[in-house]
Amino acid sequence: VVEKPAYDAVILGLGQSGMACARYLLAGGRDFAVMDTRPNPPGLAELQSRSADVPIVTGRFDAQMLANAEQIILSPGVDPRQPEVQAAAQRGQSIVGEIELFAQAVSAPVIAITGSNGKSTVTSIVGEMARCAGKAVAVGGNLSPPALDLLMTQPDADLYVLELSSFQLETTASLAPLVGAVLNLTADHLDRYDAMRDYAAAKARILTHAQHAVLNAQDLAVTAMAPAELPITWFGEQTGDYHLLTLEDGDWLCRGATPLVAASSLPLVGRHNLQNALAALAIGSAAGWPDAAMISALKTFRGLPHRSESLGWHADRLWINDSKATNVGAAVAGIQGLGRPMVLLAGGDGKGQDFRPLAAGLPSETRAAVVYGAAAGVLVQALAPHVVVQRVESLADAVVAALRLSERGDVIALAPACASLDQFADYQDRGRQFSALVEQVGQNG
Ligand code: ADP
Repeated sequence: VVEKPAYDAVILGLGQSGMACARYLLAGGRDFAVMDTRPNPPGLAELQSRSADVPIVTGRFDAQMLANAEQIILSPGVDPRQPEVQAAAQRGQSIVGEIELFAQAVSAPVIAITGSNGKSTVTSIVGEMARCAGKAVAVGGNLSPPALDLLMTQPDADLYVLELSSFQLETTASLAPLVGAVLNLTADHLDRYDAMRDYAAAKARILTHAQHAVLNAQDLAVTAMAPAELPITWFGEQTGDYHLLTLEDGDWLCRGATPLVAASSLPLVGRHNLQNALAALAIGSAAGWPDAAMISALKTFRGLPHRSESLGWHADRLWINDSKATNVGAAVAGIQGLGRPMVLLAGGDGKGQDFRPLAAGLPSETRAAVVYGAAAGVLVQALAPHVVVQRVESLADAVVAALRLSERGDVIALAPACASLDQFADYQDRGRQFSALVEQVGQNG
């Protein structure tokens, strides 16, 4: 006789996603336990206030309890290569994630979006397009709110648009999106994957049961994922079904030879955002939405905070907050095509990155770079052969220095290429402090 396991499920990790799972299982009246190796995980107080009955283990994973669970629910922040998780897999226990629970429960169509950079932006644009096309759409996933929260708070949505990370896709088996999109693939999270191949394979899972694929035609790592049996809509700056064409009055976003919308009529800043807009058009057309709805969304979407966000003109300079550019690839993308002489502000926790690609990616209009924070030394080394570099202590000093190094009509861009944790709580905190400093500039100037 096989004994019934003590718990329907054990949730590993009590952050945003783990808490969404806990709320979902509580609503379903399920017996479950929660574990987190952190002594005081973010969701602890909320879970305790919601239920006194859920067993919670903090500071470690309890092997006995784990072995006694019908199902293990892994948070995206928990590395599946950990011994306790490996042991469970070897015992043949079911290991899933929040998105798998979502996929098993959802009945409305899902649009799923992944990639290394631009996920949140494209997900938000697609959400706006869906709204313009008259859908009762729910938008979230990796970009909060979590998918299971959407399912509970917007159960009547007629469409879910989800941003999914590679970690979320790893533990998802049955998601069958109407459209699955892979935006791009550059080195990231290699602390969690043994090889780039494994990272790519995790992303490619978004296409396993998709009805339609949307793929980047100019990214070799993405074109390599193209499934033979699926309809595919391609996008890319120069090639693909959705691409840019240079007409008499500038660049247009086009379908084949048909111009749809002028790049200059989009409020979004930066070349990479034109790619994001093309990706959104490809996704929306795969979903069958009218051009007018998609174009109207593109003409009004102003971008998300801290991603190539224009802070407007202060002291006769245009200020850009790209605090979410936490790696070299994102920063390089964020500073292309700004169209005027630029002073770059970069720095923070360098995570051991090679900054030479940042030097190589500086646009020719770069007037100077101001570097600050823990990585300032390595940034000076990488950038000084190519551009005027000034090293300062803090972001506040960097703003002052940038003002001095720039001229009227210039753009000053915060694109740190680094994590923020040496001097700030997170990238949002860094972006907010930058905004506040820029406001001061306006008042003083
Ligand atoms: P994600 O959700 O994948 O982190 P975001 O939309 O939040 O992406 O953008 C994060 C940063 O990545 C932006 O601030 C910008 O610097 C960079 N970025 C955005 N879109 C792209 C793109 N298509 N290609 C390369 N970098 C990009």
